[in-house]
Amino acid sequence: MNTWEGFKQLVLVKKEDVCDTIKSFYFEAKDGSKLPKHIPGQFIPFKIKTNDNAMQDVTRTYSLSMKPNEDFYRISVKKIQGGVMSSYLHDKLNVGDSIECMPPCGIFVLDDTLPKDVPVVLLSGGIGVTPVLSMLLEEAKDRNITFVQAVQNSGMHPFKDEIDNICKENNLKNYIFYSNPLENDVEGENYDFTGYVSKEWIKENLPLNAAFYFCGPPMFMESLEKNLLELGVSQDRINYERF
Ligand SMILES: Cc1cc2nc3c(=O)[nH]c(=O)nc-3n(C[C@H](O)[C@H](O)[C@H](O)COP(=O)(O)OP(=O)(O)OC[C@H]3O[C@@H](n4cnc5c(N)ncnc54)[C@H](O)[C@@H]3O)c2cc1C
Repeated sequence: MNTWEGFKQLVLVKKEDVCDTIKSFYFEAKDGSKLPKHIPGQFIPFKIKTNDNAMQDVTRTYSLSMKPNEDFYRISVKKIQGGVMSSYLHDKLNVGDSIECMPPCGIFVLDDTLPKDVPVVLLSGGIGVTPVLSMLLEEAKDRNITFVQAVQNSGMHPFKDEIDNICKENNLKNYIFYSNPLENDVEGENYDFTGYVSKEWIKENLPLNAAFYFCGPPMFMESLEKNLLELGVSQDRINYERF
């Protein structure tokens, strides 16, 4: 195992625009070593020193958004107005710079005892796509996955092509919701449904015998959990991550 204790330096090797306000950051180990493979759904904590007089440490966690591998980590970060770490990553950290981080951790991962014939539904709202995207990339070939992505509109739609491609290649269902479509967004063409993921929609479109994994804004997650429970999905099939 290539894991480590505490913080270690990673170097930024690529910075990539994803969509409005979201960028992806690719890191390798600064010492050239292999990286521990994460389990899809896990995150890594990052630490920086702030520039204020007190020079305090600031730590934030980011879910890994790529398929597990030993060569690089990818995180995808939404820039928050006034946010310390997200602004630092977007505006200050450049390719070649180093940053301290801990190894992958977290328990929001697919249940490895789940029989392969049980369907899996991955749902996300906004930047909550990162942990479930990693699950999709790893499991697409082996599981019957339905992927549901809710975002504001095409301008705020991360990883559209990556998700479309992997779902098409593996014959998986992929539904897109826009809550606030732009003038050029056409329902039935570049997205599937306008509005939010409702209880009625879930009943008509999703396998209720599935294991559900989701991540998104608090209201998105509260309403999903309530609707799934009311539709008879058992609590032990409902899994989510809070950002
Ligand atoms: C398990 C986990 C995984 C996550 N994965 C991701 C991911 O993949 N991608 C991602 O983008 N995010 C992710 N997050 C969220 C991430 O960790 C940060 O919380 C997020 O990036 C904001 O951090 P920040 O330092 O930029 O903002 P902060 O500095 O923490 O600020 C957050 C908000 O508080 C406001 N604020 C700050 N200070 C004050 C103040 N003094 N008074 C009033 N308001 C204030 C800011 O304006 C901002 O709106 C994840 C979180 C968790 C827990």
